[in-house]
Amino acid sequence: MSFLVEDKVAVVTGGSSGIGLETVKLLLQQGAKVAWCGRDETRLQASWQKLASQFAPEDMMVHGCDVLNKESVQGFADSVMARFGQVDMLINNAGQGKVSTFAETTDQEWMDEVQLKYFSVIHPVKAFLDALKQSQHAAIVNVNSLLALKPEAHMIATSAARAALLNLTKSLAQNFAQEGIRVNSILIGMVESGQWRRRFEQRSDLSLDWDAWVAKIAAERGIPLGRLGKPEEAARALVFLASPLSSYTTGSTVDVSGGFSKHI
Ligand code: NDP
Repeated sequence: MSFLVEDKVAVVTGGSSGIGLETVKLLLQQGAKVAWCGRDETRLQASWQKLASQFAPEDMMVHGCDVLNKESVQGFADSVMARFGQVDMLINNAGQGKVSTFAETTDQEWMDEVQLKYFSVIHPVKAFLDALKQSQHAAIVNVNSLLALKPEAHMIATSAARAALLNLTKSLAQNFAQEGIRVNSILIGMVESGQWRRRFEQRSDLSLDWDAWVAKIAAERGIPLGRLGKPEEAARALVFLASPLSSYTTGSTVDVSGGFSKHI
């Protein structure tokens, strides 16, 4: 199946691991040119090496960048334009969740979480906006979480900040509709990724291997499809929303939670 993104240029923030990396890979498979960023240079270069053996290096670009640093994001945007001369798709994926209850969360942690969820989108949107305005198929897709609609007490700050991001995504969709830029998001449940690998390393029951550990989480949480999602499953939804296949969809969400969402 073709996503109709051949020769289009995509930017993926946080493309060096997990969902972002699978999104970069799928876009390259589909013939797009892709620029991606991350903070850790070693991980970024490793992602480049991994993909350079499968895809044309001239279609790929990596750039060290913290999405919370406005100047750094602008530098990334300038480099992408210098290299590819256009941007059609911006996928705001960089970030992570924070596990903490109300009692545990300090004021600074609240501020950090709000800053991450807002500015990991605001800085890239501002930096790539002029380029997106020039595209005939411009799309922004934000990686969001089901927590936006279904808050969890053990991730209270992330849940609240995710709800704000959902609201912001809707506003951006309204704001840019007349300029032909679509803005959508995916709402993820639990997807196997670097974040979950790190939590696995800190698990209390060391007798469980990875498969047993994720199966236990899926069973305990009651995920109807009986397992965690794979990063490539989130990537397919992201690329659909970024692609011309979803040309009449803006301000919308795609649920990638294995049926975990109970609301209508
Ligand atoms: P990973 O940890 O595997 O990947 C996160 C990526 O984002 C890495 O490439 C990381 O690279 C990059 N990143 C993190 N912070 C920044 C930053 N400030 N600037 C630039 N790059 C950054 O996790 P996931 O694939 O799971 O995460 C992708 C997105 O999905 C995140 O926004 C996460 O919150 C969201 N999500 C994931 C869920 C899940 O179950 N997996 C559930 C709900 C939401 P580096 O650290 O080198 O910067």
